[in-house]
Amino acid sequence: MSRPPRTLVTGGAGFLGSHLCDRLLREGHEVICADNLITGSLKNIAHLFGQEGFRFLKQDVTEYLYIEGPVEYILHFASPASPVDYLRLPIQTLKVGSLGTHKALGLAKAKRARLLLASTSEVYGDPQVHPQPESYWGHVNPVGPRGVYDEAKRFAEAMTMAYHRYHGVETRIARIFNTFGPRMRPNDGRVVSNFLIQALEGNPLTVYGDGRQTRSFCYVSDLVDGLFRLLMSAEGEPVNLGNPAERTIRDLVAAIEKILGRSLPVTYNPLPQDDPRVRQPDITRARTLLGWEPKVELEIGLRETIDYFRGQPDIGGEGRVAAPPA
Ligand code: UDP
Repeated sequence: MSRPPRTLVTGGAGFLGSHLCDRLLREGHEVICADNLITGSLKNIAHLFGQEGFRFLKQDVTEYLYIEGPVEYILHFASPASPVDYLRLPIQTLKVGSLGTHKALGLAKAKRARLLLASTSEVYGDPQVHPQPESYWGHVNPVGPRGVYDEAKRFAEAMTMAYHRYHGVETRIARIFNTFGPRMRPNDGRVVSNFLIQALEGNPLTVYGDGRQTRSFCYVSDLVDGLFRLLMSAEGEPVNLGNPAERTIRDLVAAIEKILGRSLPVTYNPLPQDDPRVRQPDITRARTLLGWEPKVELEIGLRETIDYFRGQPDIGGEGRVAAPPA
């Protein structure tokens, strides 16, 4: 092909989507970034405006998706993705996972493009198998508050496989585990952003439950590398992407204390309903099929993220006492 590949990123103004746009442009792709900006932000892609090969479309991907000209790759990343967001936007979350995935797959079929679906570790729910391999079918409460996200993504995976099997569309499914880094929204409610903002603003860290629940935190550059490898691979079955280093929420508090060089006050709040007790990816498939594994240590990634938040105009300097995040 004499021209660069043309690639659509839905949710391209979001946390992961914007980092993907950066990477794809670096790889020489022409990038069309579509986002309705309900959780994404133009701030995340401001540096790309005016760059050759980049175009932004303000578009709700649950509506008909019209893209003129050829498209080789589609990365379907549009969705509210933090528990606070999908509790606030339950219908939009269900619609983008179902109708939005249908539209993205329809476009992939029409353009003969390869589609990569951003799925999630939430398809495993509150898992009874630990760590979670891709072969595990999960333990999800369909009618609980998290069901809107979990079931939307499970439906999206089923729809993706149906388009692959029935229409022969080339598809890839990434099951993404907890990821953090610059461009997380300060108020997205996730544990890493909450804790860092609380620490920087001199407020107590809000630990939910007893803080013994575990997560495995992957730095964004590692994740984006895994996504790009998966996109370029021949692997059509789901692949877990995440950092297998499992930590309790209390470990996370300790890691932030170590970086800031002081102990941090903590308040204990009730554990949200259906909050998974444990989560850790089995990344054997990613290791063997993609030659991928995360490289960035938690502490290094946290330092980068702290620097990012410190550079945001609306976030207080260390020690400043501000109102708790809304
Ligand atoms: N959590 C917490 N304090 C917060 C936000 C989250 O203790 O201020 C806990 C939450 O209950 C969960 C874990 O941290 O056990 C990760 O939460 P997050 O919202 O980041 O994402 P999840 O992995 O639950 O989708």
